[in-house]
Amino acid sequence: LSFSQCKLPTRMMENLQTEGYTQPTSIQMQIVPTALIGRDILASGQTGTGKTASFLIPIISHCWSLSQCYEGKNGPYAIILAPTRELCSQIENLTKGLIRGLTNMKTSLLVGGLPIPNQVHRLKQRTQIAIATPGRLIDILNQSNEELSMNNIHMFVLDEVDMMFKMGFEKQVREIIDKLPLPITSARRQTLMISATFPKIIEKLANSLLKDHIRIIV
Ligand code: AMP
Repeated sequence: LSFSQCKLPTRMMENLQTEGYTQPTSIQMQIVPTALIGRDILASGQTGTGKTASFLIPIISHCWSLSQCYEGKNGPYAIILAPTRELCSQIENLTKGLIRGLTNMKTSLLVGGLPIPNQVHRLKQRTQIAIATPGRLIDILNQSNEELSMNNIHMFVLDEVDMMFKMGFEKQVREIIDKLPLPITSARRQTLMISATFPKIIEKLANSLLKDHIRIIV
């Protein structure tokens, strides 16, 4: 499989080249086409495998289509949760690289250590992809319900979900899941879970959260 077979937005193809992503890694070969057709996924993925782009490529592609329909309004369309500020920041940097030149595409980084008002201000300026740590996302949802609408979340990613649970974010992750719009058949939410390990608690979460999912072990 090559990236050019995936019918990605032309500008994103160019951005992939610029980022040095010429050939997909093994995890990207499996996750990208499966996620592009809308399937829920539970995947094993460690840092260094190229897992970040494996979920970002289909997410950006889908968000860009939505953005074209809605002129970038009514976002965010995707939320990516990751355990640490640093990881969120890395995810946001790659997202920015991959959306360069795509009109009506913006990211929001919702992490601790930075003032909430700035983050909410940016969110209100038509963000399509929000990248968040669970704690900060909950704080923002609790403080400013109208500013962050979860009604148009079409895609939801839990990156390093086992780490999020190990770090004690299970309660927050579940609270966020409860606030997501209920999937309806016409506009079903797509969920991708990436985990390095598969303890029982992660399997249980996958079984309750994912719909008819595909398991990808790399
Ligand atoms: P990740 O596992 O997502 O943290 O990525 C690990 C490293 O591999 C990062 O430095 C990426 O820039 C790089 N990388 C990921 N996918 C590719 C690819 N298809 N081609 C070249 N480098 C890649």
